[in-house]
Amino acid sequence: MDSATFLDSRTAEERVAAVLRQAVDRKLVGTEQPVAGFLDTDGIRASVAALHAAFGEVPDVLHTFAVKASSLIPVLRLLADLGMGCEVASPGELRLALDAGCAPGRIVLDSPAKTREEIAEALALGVALNADNLDELERVDALRPADSASVIGLRVNPQVGSGSIGAMSTATATSKFGVALRDPGARERVVRAFAERPWLTRLHAHVGSQGCPLELIAEGIAETYRLAEEINAAVGERQITSLDIGGGLPVNFADDTVRPTYEDYTRALRAAEPRLFDGRYGLVTEFGRSLLAKNGFIAARVEYAKEAGGRRIAVTHAGAQTATRTVLMPGAWPLRVGAFDAQGRPKDGTPVAQDVAGPCCFAGDVVAEDRALPPLAEGDFVVLRDTGAYYFSTPWAYNSLPRPGVHGYATDAAGDVRFAPVRDAQTLDEIAAESGAGHADRLTTLSRP
Ligand SMILES: *Cc1c(COP(=O)(O)O)cnc(C)c1O
Repeated sequence: MDSATFLDSRTAEERVAAVLRQAVDRKLVGTEQPVAGFLDTDGIRASVAALHAAFGEVPDVLHTFAVKASSLIPVLRLLADLGMGCEVASPGELRLALDAGCAPGRIVLDSPAKTREEIAEALALGVALNADNLDELERVDALRPADSASVIGLRVNPQVGSGSIGAMSTATATSKFGVALRDPGARERVVRAFAERPWLTRLHAHVGSQGCPLELIAEGIAETYRLAEEINAAVGERQITSLDIGGGLPVNFADDTVRPTYEDYTRALRAAEPRLFDGRYGLVTEFGRSLLAKNGFIAARVEYAKEAGGRRIAVTHAGAQTATRTVLMPGAWPLRVGAFDAQGRPKDGTPVAQDVAGPCCFAGDVVAEDRALPPLAEGDFVVLRDTGAYYFSTPWAYNSLPRPGVHGYATDAAGDVRFAPVRDAQTLDEIAAESGAGHADRLTTLSRP
């Protein structure tokens, strides 16, 4: 790992401030680019190292990165360089993983709605595939070349229950994912599906995500382990050779501490099933948010500061287009907001309650409500912390707002910051092209009175 990470004794907040100052100086964010995303490559390296360390005792483990958490090719290339594979859930994500240089054998395809073409492509490439349901297994029966190098698994839903965010809970009784194990007859059908298919060698469970307690996730994995033992006993050999335990480690958005840690998670897993790490099964993981969230931030210019009904509102360029979940589900996804002046220096001034709003044309486009911050003014900047996963990497095209540019950064011991481009900001020409510019007169000529 870069020694700068250890030499740099500043707090995360001070580092973000130093990076913002440099980014404003270099006009990476400002008048021309009123919003941008930033990714800390030293931080990403440290997060990946922590993941590897926590699973260090497991003899055979493949850590994949859930591409939807940061669907950016340079990020995937950095992670591949650090020994990670990719978990993909669409043809687009598969393409990004391949373009990033991820070897097909280190890619896991988990799309919930795989088409026959998608399945055939994965099997031809040797990409591992987890079938979502038994009907999908029948498609695999028909499509699998005899010499396919793909590891093939079945996703199960251990139905252990919900966390605090329903939309993030994948192991409820009625979740759309996987084979619901506790439904009448389901366990027997799963055992039979394996008995009929000697090439089916993996069980997959992704039990939860943000809002799910570790014990709940661990119980779902333990249940999957017990099912693998049951299946292997039923078929009379060790047909299942690996378990894909998914991702889903929650992230603390309230302050700079990383909690829970990967060590906390492996402790919970070991408590739920002590044999999980003994090497009987190879393991695959699919973490996303926990690797990237705290290693990124959004910076946005304040365009106006106004008052309405006694409330101060800072109208900024970061709203639902780049902080979609926070704006649409503010109770579930609160973000820390920092206030900076026009040069990118932390603002002082007695905090006053204000709303931090975005540029979208709907009244709910507010990323923080009634937040105590030094009074924001035109030309200032706001920083949305912990947005390295599922935020600027996953923009929403509402109002034809451009996808913001993304920059990677690394700091050295002297506090110097180096930047590298990750994704260019979208141009107006690109927005027009994507909005049917090439077909501009097709509707007017389609039907004539
Ligand atoms: C989204 C997803 C992940 C990653 O979840 P995180 O909460 O970001 O760790 C892993 N596996 C599957 C199947 C997913 O859908």
